[in-house]
Amino acid sequence: MAGTMRAALWLGPEEVAVREVPRPTVGPGQALIKVAYSGICGTDMMIYLGKHPRAKAPLVMGHEFSGLVVEADLNAFAPGTPVVVNPLLPCGTCDACRRGLRHVCRNLGLVGIDADGGFAEYALVPLHTLRPLPRTLPLGEAALIEPLAVGVHAVRASDLRPGDVTAVLGAGPVGLLTAQTARLAGARRVFVSERSPRRLAIARALGFEVIEVGRRDVVSTVLEATGGEGVPVVFETAGAAETVNEAAQIARIGGQIVQVGLPKGPVSVDLTPFVFHEVRHTPIRVYRDEDFESAIALAVAGVFDLRTPVTHILGLGDLPKGIALAHETTEACKVLIAPSA
Ligand SMILES: [Zn+2]
Ligand SMILES: [Zn+2]
Repeated sequence: MAGTMRAALWLGPEEVAVREVPRPTVGPGQALIKVAYSGICGTDMMIYLGKHPRAKAPLVMGHEFSGLVVEADLNAFAPGTPVVVNPLLPCGTCDACRRGLRHVCRNLGLVGIDADGGFAEYALVPLHTLRPLPRTLPLGEAALIEPLAVGVHAVRASDLRPGDVTAVLGAGPVGLLTAQTARLAGARRVFVSERSPRRLAIARALGFEVIEVGRRDVVSTVLEATGGEGVPVVFETAGAAETVNEAAQIARIGGQIVQVGLPKGPVSVDLTPFVFHEVRHTPIRVYRDEDFESAIALAVAGVFDLRTPVTHILGLGDLPKGIALAHETTEACKVLIAPSA
């Protein structure tokens, strides 16, 4: 597999360049993937700005990607097999891994953060990260399996029951995928709060009851809709102080907040409703292996809309623009890079 490829290299804070680099060669336990689509995530913005604690330049970012197998060690996958990458790289030996908590491994790494990822024409990944897909699943939709797995993990970690009214705070890609999973799990009504008009329009198009932040009050809207009681489960996906505090006010007595969003720093939270109402706070990180498998099965089954959240598909050279678009949220929701386009 001699030759070169185009890769978007992160070279340091706010510096990304598309370079012609040697195409990687397959070693033991590895596979080479021709990347089809690679999603931009909030983590990529952190890396881009030089604020990610682990990422080291030069790096090919991108941990949400699909593609076709070019070559796999020991022919573990036939060339041309469509795949999605489960990017988690648990160490396998720490206390968490030994207790079955590989997704919160003490030394957890990810393809695209701790090793080169999907913003290149080809990606070299460990064989164990590959999940084969049926050819019926469009690879653009397959690129959303990774964030969908987060939504599946969130709903599985929750006490949501069929017939419940629920609220998802934040209509970013993970919020919208969590909301779709909650609806599939039997939520009778799903409120989705958001500030960005573009994301509100997408949430509305997906059939959710939207609350336009800034124009309507999230707390009073949800309380009014539930006769003042609040909802049994709130999914916080925005990762902001404001939304965490809103969640605490709209969770019903004995209810639960599933913390999906990661605030950029410490946030100030009033613990009174947590204590007075015995509201439980359930944080989740990424996904378990079984959540990822379910996300694949759900994507393949076609029960979710994995197209409407995608607002942009850009070429490799537009990665900085794509990161800015995804970060500002005003005009974008999920932004995909198509490295070979
Ligand atoms: Zn991500
Ligand atoms: Zn570990």
